[in-house]
Amino acid sequence: MTRIIDVSMDVFSGMLVWPGDDGVDLRRTQKMEEGAHNNYSRIACGVHTGTHVDAPRHFIAGGKSVEALPLDVLCGPAWTAGFTGIRRIGEAQLEKAGIPAGTRRLLLKTDNSTVLESMTEFQDDYAGLDESGAQWIVGRGIQLVGIDFLSVAVRDQTGPVHRALLGADVILVEGLLMEHVPSGACRFTCLPVKLRGSDGAPARAMVEIE
Ligand SMILES: [Zn+2]
Repeated sequence: MTRIIDVSMDVFSGMLVWPGDDGVDLRRTQKMEEGAHNNYSRIACGVHTGTHVDAPRHFIAGGKSVEALPLDVLCGPAWTAGFTGIRRIGEAQLEKAGIPAGTRRLLLKTDNSTVLESMTEFQDDYAGLDESGAQWIVGRGIQLVGIDFLSVAVRDQTGPVHRALLGADVILVEGLLMEHVPSGACRFTCLPVKLRGSDGAPARAMVEIE
Protein backbone atom coordinates (compact mmCIF):
# COMPACT_ATOMS: atom_id res chain seq x y z
CA MET A 1 0.00 0.00 0.00
CA THR A 2 1.25 3.47 -0.81
CA ARG A 3 2.05 5.70 2.13
CA ILE A 4 1.81 9.48 1.70
CA ILE A 5 4.12 11.73 3.71
CA ASP A 6 3.37 15.44 3.75
CA VAL A 7 6.78 17.12 3.59
CA SER A 8 5.46 20.70 3.56
CA MET A 9 5.99 23.24 6.33
CA ASP A 10 3.07 25.09 7.92
CA VAL A 11 3.01 28.76 6.91
CA PHE A 12 2.18 31.20 9.71
CA SER A 13 2.97 34.65 11.05
CA GLY A 14 6.25 34.60 12.94
CA MET A 15 7.62 31.47 11.28
CA LEU A 16 11.34 31.10 10.59
CA VAL A 17 12.47 32.95 7.47
CA TRP A 18 15.78 33.66 5.78
CA PRO A 19 17.75 36.48 7.48
CA GLY A 20 16.70 39.83 6.03
CA ASP A 21 13.31 38.57 4.86
CA ASP A 22 10.37 40.62 6.16
CA GLY A 23 8.65 37.49 7.43
CA VAL A 24 5.14 36.18 7.08
CA ASP A 25 2.04 38.23 7.86
CA LEU A 26 -1.07 36.01 7.66
CA ARG A 27 -4.10 37.68 9.20
CA ARG A 28 -7.87 37.61 9.10
CA THR A 29 -9.19 40.93 7.84
CA GLN A 30 -12.88 39.96 8.13
CA LYS A 31 -14.04 38.13 11.25
CA MET A 32 -17.42 36.45 11.67
CA GLU A 33 -17.23 36.88 15.44
CA GLU A 34 -17.14 40.63 14.77
CA GLY A 35 -20.22 40.50 12.52
CA ALA A 36 -18.57 39.94 9.15
CA HIS A 37 -20.43 37.88 6.52
CA ASN A 38 -17.51 35.41 6.41
CA ASN A 39 -13.94 34.91 7.54
CA TYR A 40 -11.37 36.25 5.09
CA SER A 41 -7.60 36.40 5.40
CA ARG A 42 -4.70 38.02 3.59
CA ILE A 43 -1.08 36.98 3.43
CA ALA A 44 2.08 38.97 2.87
CA CYS A 45 5.33 37.04 2.64
CA GLY A 46 8.46 36.50 0.60
CA VAL A 47 8.13 34.04 -2.25
CA HIS A 48 10.93 31.94 -0.68
CA THR A 49 8.83 31.14 2.39
CA GLY A 50 8.55 27.74 4.05
CA THR A 51 8.50 24.86 1.58
CA HIS A 52 9.14 26.56 -1.76
CA VAL A 53 10.75 26.29 -5.17
CA ASP A 54 13.60 28.34 -6.57
CA ALA A 55 13.16 29.02 -10.28
CA PRO A 56 16.26 29.72 -12.41
CA ARG A 57 15.34 33.45 -12.37
CA HIS A 58 16.30 33.56 -8.67
CA PHE A 59 20.00 33.76 -9.62
CA ILE A 60 20.01 33.85 -13.45
CA ALA A 61 18.96 37.06 -15.21
CA GLY A 62 16.30 36.19 -17.80
CA GLY A 63 16.03 32.64 -16.44
CA LYS A 64 12.79 30.66 -16.29
CA SER A 65 10.22 31.92 -13.82
CA VAL A 66 7.93 29.82 -11.66
CA GLU A 67 4.92 29.49 -13.97
CA ALA A 68 7.18 28.02 -16.66
CA LEU A 69 8.56 25.19 -14.51
CA PRO A 70 7.53 21.84 -16.02
CA LEU A 71 5.23 19.65 -13.92
CA ASP A 72 6.89 16.55 -15.33
CA VAL A 73 10.07 17.57 -13.53
CA LEU A 74 8.32 18.74 -10.36
CA CYS A 75 6.53 15.39 -10.01
CA GLY A 76 7.76 11.85 -10.52
CA PRO A 77 10.11 9.12 -9.25
CA ALA A 78 12.79 10.40 -6.85
CA TRP A 79 15.64 9.17 -4.68
CA THR A 80 16.17 10.19 -1.05
CA ALA A 81 19.82 10.23 0.02
CA GLY A 82 20.55 10.43 3.74
CA PHE A 83 23.52 12.39 5.13
CA THR A 84 23.97 12.04 8.88
CA GLY A 85 26.72 13.98 10.64
CA ILE A 86 27.69 15.80 7.42
CA ARG A 87 27.45 19.57 7.15
CA ARG A 88 28.99 20.15 3.71
CA ILE A 89 27.69 17.85 1.02
CA GLY A 90 30.21 17.83 -1.81
CA GLU A 91 31.22 15.63 -4.70
CA ALA A 92 32.91 13.08 -2.39
CA GLN A 93 29.86 12.67 -0.15
CA LEU A 94 27.45 12.38 -3.10
CA GLU A 95 29.72 9.90 -4.85
CA LYS A 96 29.59 7.61 -1.78
CA ALA A 97 25.84 7.98 -1.17
CA GLY A 98 24.71 5.20 -3.50
CA ILE A 99 22.54 7.42 -5.67
CA PRO A 100 21.46 5.31 -8.66
CA ALA A 101 22.52 6.34 -12.16
CA GLY A 102 19.62 7.90 -14.02
CA THR A 103 18.16 9.60 -10.92
CA ARG A 104 16.23 12.68 -12.13
CA ARG A 105 14.97 13.96 -8.76
CA LEU A 106 17.24 13.89 -5.72
CA LEU A 107 16.04 14.62 -2.19
CA LEU A 108 18.70 15.36 0.42
CA LYS A 109 17.86 14.30 3.97
CA THR A 110 20.31 15.79 6.45
CA ASP A 111 20.55 16.53 10.16
CA ASN A 112 18.48 19.67 9.37
CA SER A 113 15.43 17.41 9.31
CA THR A 114 15.38 17.07 13.06
CA VAL A 115 15.51 20.83 13.69
CA LEU A 116 13.85 22.65 10.75
CA GLU A 117 10.31 22.55 12.10
CA SER A 118 11.23 23.60 15.64
CA MET A 119 13.89 26.21 14.79
CA THR A 120 12.84 29.69 15.92
CA GLU A 121 16.16 31.53 15.49
CA PHE A 122 18.05 31.20 12.21
CA GLN A 123 21.22 29.14 12.56
CA ASP A 124 24.14 29.40 10.16
CA ASP A 125 25.59 25.93 10.65
CA TYR A 126 22.93 23.96 8.78
CA ALA A 127 23.84 21.23 6.29
CA GLY A 128 23.86 21.99 2.58
CA LEU A 129 25.57 21.50 -0.76
CA ASP A 130 28.91 23.04 -1.55
CA GLU A 131 29.96 24.03 -5.06
CA SER A 132 31.52 20.64 -5.88
CA GLY A 133 28.25 18.97 -4.88
CA ALA A 134 26.26 21.29 -7.13
CA GLN A 135 28.58 20.50 -10.04
CA TRP A 136 28.27 16.77 -9.39
CA ILE A 137 24.48 17.08 -9.54
CA VAL A 138 24.59 19.00 -12.81
CA GLY A 139 27.06 16.48 -14.28
CA ARG A 140 24.73 13.61 -13.37
CA GLY A 141 21.87 15.22 -15.29
CA ILE A 142 19.68 15.53 -12.18
CA GLN A 143 16.80 17.94 -12.88
CA LEU A 144 15.39 18.59 -9.40
CA VAL A 145 17.03 18.80 -5.98
CA GLY A 146 15.13 19.00 -2.71
CA ILE A 147 16.58 19.72 0.73
CA ASP A 148 15.42 20.03 4.32
CA PHE A 149 16.44 23.65 4.87
CA LEU A 150 15.58 27.12 3.56
CA SER A 151 18.62 27.00 1.28
CA VAL A 152 20.12 24.16 -0.73
CA ALA A 153 23.59 25.65 -0.23
CA VAL A 154 25.90 25.93 2.76
CA ARG A 155 25.85 29.52 3.94
CA ASP A 156 29.27 30.57 2.60
CA GLN A 157 28.58 29.19 -0.92
CA THR A 158 25.04 30.41 -1.50
CA GLY A 159 25.89 32.22 -4.75
CA PRO A 160 28.10 29.63 -6.49
CA VAL A 161 25.81 26.70 -5.61
CA HIS A 162 22.62 28.44 -6.74
CA ARG A 163 24.25 29.72 -9.93
CA ALA A 164 25.62 26.27 -10.83
CA LEU A 165 22.26 24.53 -10.30
CA LEU A 166 19.85 27.19 -11.55
CA GLY A 167 22.16 27.96 -14.49
CA ALA A 168 21.64 24.35 -15.58
CA ASP A 169 17.84 24.67 -15.16
CA VAL A 170 17.83 22.39 -12.09
CA ILE A 171 14.69 23.09 -10.05
CA LEU A 172 15.38 23.59 -6.34
CA VAL A 173 12.86 22.70 -3.64
CA GLU A 174 13.79 24.06 -0.23
CA GLY A 175 12.20 23.69 3.19
CA LEU A 176 11.17 20.01 2.92
CA LEU A 177 10.29 18.18 6.14
CA MET A 178 12.22 14.98 5.50
CA GLU A 179 12.34 13.57 9.04
CA HIS A 180 9.91 10.72 8.36
CA VAL A 181 11.06 9.94 4.82
CA PRO A 182 13.25 6.82 4.56
CA SER A 183 16.30 6.79 2.30
CA GLY A 184 15.79 5.20 -1.10
CA ALA A 185 13.19 5.25 -3.84
CA CYS A 186 9.97 7.24 -3.61
CA ARG A 187 7.64 9.33 -5.68
CA PHE A 188 7.84 13.11 -5.22
CA THR A 189 5.12 15.65 -5.95
CA CYS A 190 5.71 19.37 -5.67
CA LEU A 191 3.13 21.94 -6.74
CA PRO A 192 4.33 25.56 -6.50
CA VAL A 193 1.79 28.37 -6.73
CA LYS A 194 1.90 29.77 -10.29
CA LEU A 195 3.24 33.20 -9.46
CA ARG A 196 3.75 34.75 -12.88
CA GLY A 197 7.25 36.08 -13.50
CA SER A 198 8.42 35.11 -10.01
CA ASP A 199 11.82 33.73 -9.00
CA GLY A 200 10.26 31.45 -6.41
CA ALA A 201 6.95 30.31 -4.95
CA PRO A 202 5.59 28.52 -1.89
CA ALA A 203 4.63 24.95 -2.67
CA ARG A 204 2.81 21.94 -1.30
CA ALA A 205 4.97 18.85 -1.53
CA MET A 206 4.55 15.19 -0.70
CA VAL A 207 6.48 11.97 -0.86
CA GLU A 208 4.87 8.62 -1.62
CA ILE A 209 6.49 5.38 -0.47
CA GLU A 210 5.49 1.98 -1.79
ZN1 LIG B 1 14.62 29.80 -2.22
